[in-house]
This record gives sequence, structure tokens and C-alpha cells, in this order.
Amino acid sequence: METGGCLCGKVRYQFERENVISAGHCHCIDCQKATGSGKATIIFIPTKSLQINKYFKVYSVIGTDGTNVHRGFCPDCGSPIISYVTEQPDLRFIKAGSLDESSWVKAESSFWRVSAKNWDPVNKTLPCFEQNPK
Ligand SMILES: [Zn+2]
Ligand SMILES: [Zn+2]
Repeated sequence: METGGCLCGKVRYQFERENVISAGHCHCIDCQKATGSGKATIIFIPTKSLQINKYFKVYSVIGTDGTNVHRGFCPDCGSPIISYVTEQPDLRFIKAGSLDESSWVKAESSFWRVSAKNWDPVNKTLPCFEQNPK
């Protein structure tokens, strides 16, 4: 069982590694703002395979591609943990850096190359999408 959570430990989640669909780097502007970094490295997991406590607060926003994005973070320490999209209810996105042990994570692609910054360029060894993968 893989486990993770926020910096202060109030938000906690777990899932089985075998249920992970894939992982990737998102260089969209919103992920840059929400993480304070050049990209968010995200794990894709089916909603039904993720157990997470309800401590997190959600900030909802229209995403860069027009979808309704919900970004979950700890209201006490501010760590971004989870996001999900109204239009894709069966899918959850977990920030890879929030895992307790993440050495097994293998990013398989990059998205939103159009907004990648010079100081955090896309990984050219991976498949790369201009925007979101379809
Ligand atoms: Zn916290
Ligand atoms: Zn993004």
C-alpha cells in the first residue's frame, strides 16, 4: 500500500500501486501557480482506487483548457495534494511529491509544453504534448 499526505500530516491518503494508471509532468500555468514550481508531477489513479480523508479544502477554477478543475490542499499547511476534473469523475490526480515514498514513480509523458519555463524545461526523453493529452 502506498501512502502520502501533506506537510503537517492532517491530509492522508493511500492506494495500491498496481492501480496507478500512469504519471506525468504538467507544465500548465495553473500547476505552476499552485505548486510554486515549474511543473506538477502527477499520478493518475482511478477515483475508486484512492482512499483519502476529507480534511483537505478545495479551490475550484476553470482550467487552462476550459474544464472545471478542483485543486485540493491542506487548509493548515497549504500543501497541494490532489486535483480532479468534473468532466472526468472517474479519475483523480495526486501530486507525486506528497507521497511518503516516491522512488517508484515513473513519469511517462509531459503536458503543456507551450507554457514550460526556461528554468524547468520539458523532459525531452519523454512523449510530450503541447497541451493536455487527448
Ligand atoms: Zn497539512
Ligand atoms: Zn497542470
